[in-house]
Amino acid sequence: MKLAVSVLLFAAAAASSQAQELRAGTAQVVVTPPTGTPMAGYYHPRASTGVHDDLHAKALVLRQGKTTFALIACDLIHLPEPVVEASRKLIESETGIPARNVMISATHAHTGPVIPGGTSRLVFGGKEAELAQAYATGLPVRIAGAVKLALGSLQLARIRSGAGIQAELTFNRRFHMTDGTVGWNPGKMNPRIVRPAGPIDPQVGVISLETTSGAPLATLVNYALHLDTVGGLEISADYPYTLAKTIAAARPAITLFTLGCAGNLNHIDVKSAKPQKGHEEAARIGAALGQEVVRTLDSLETVKPGLAVESAIVDLPLASHDPGEVAWARQTAATYGKPKPAPFLELVKAFRILDVEARAKQPLKAEVQAVRLDSDTVLVALPGEIFTELGLAIKERSPFKRTIVVELANGSIGYVPDRKAFTEGNYEAVSARCAAGSGERLVEAAIALLTRLER
Ligand SMILES: [Zn+2]
Repeated sequence: MKLAVSVLLFAAAAASSQAQELRAGTAQVVVTPPTGTPMAGYYHPRASTGVHDDLHAKALVLRQGKTTFALIACDLIHLPEPVVEASRKLIESETGIPARNVMISATHAHTGPVIPGGTSRLVFGGKEAELAQAYATGLPVRIAGAVKLALGSLQLARIRSGAGIQAELTFNRRFHMTDGTVGWNPGKMNPRIVRPAGPIDPQVGVISLETTSGAPLATLVNYALHLDTVGGLEISADYPYTLAKTIAAARPAITLFTLGCAGNLNHIDVKSAKPQKGHEEAARIGAALGQEVVRTLDSLETVKPGLAVESAIVDLPLASHDPGEVAWARQTAATYGKPKPAPFLELVKAFRILDVEARAKQPLKAEVQAVRLDSDTVLVALPGEIFTELGLAIKERSPFKRTIVVELANGSIGYVPDRKAFTEGNYEAVSARCAAGSGERLVEAAIALLTRLER
């Protein structure tokens, strides 16, 4: 009898130490679209003519005890809900990882393919539409493929995390102007600029996965800086391409880049007249950010892993418009891609009205996901282009020491400005499909999930 009890106790101890062992696996697959595929990112159609550097879907799978979590970072403009759903379904059926434990994020590369789904602006005809649709249809198989490969490479691992600071690369792109308005991308050296209308988030989130003997497996980087530094017609992952190369030179492992809350941030320094577009600019940013990551690697801390995932669906009210504006919106949207398109902000408003109309009063469904990696470190995923004020609010109120907020993850509901920006107006506020107050609801939902994960 005594023997049986001690055997049982031994078994229980083995199970609990097993539960604390973390395993990690990584993989990447190429997701470069065929030449000629329509490219994303701007309010005018354009097709790719070649490839500067390949796009990837990069996967990191973590397993601890009975919990498995998959993070996929894609070099793509966004991932509409149908693509996320199809990818998660495939991942769940082929690997057993529950859909809710999967975080699929887009880096927001503007030199990648259009991913149809979710907005009327990206509905067009002809061969280009076929290429774009074929790409989107094939994407879940590739994303699930990356997860399967990562799962196949699981090995005992340790996690270390920390944060660097890089305040020189990212800028708030909204400005108080001398006429009292809030300008959006007002142009370099514009004498009417008074001051930025909001903050930046200079934090560089860094998480390292390594073998128990310290060999690097993956570096996870999070930074709030919009990806639109390259331009042109060649496919490119933008600055994360050089970022990954810079880190790999110091530490041979896969780099997964996730975008912080950068809805109102970009790389344009209005105080300098220097042009800031092209591969040289992307390389400058990627190298500087990569150097900060490498510097930070030495100071990362190891704490007890404690993998857990929580998520919630938040209903967000839709932006409102006058029913009389719908006919105007149709006419205006019809000028998109034509020789004489309507002015930019009118196109932005017209497509917003059409997208909101298409929802037939159904609120936007926003998934908020929170993932505890260790007792100090959490990831929060939000499904849109989120104003940096909202990301900062989550970081400030989080009960965890290190909170990384990933935008454009698990869906793509468009811009989510903070309440203040809705009253100030201009591009993001005109474009937002959600109503004022939606961003603050996401913050509350995130804090509720983080509170549940704190123990
Ligand atoms: Zn953008």
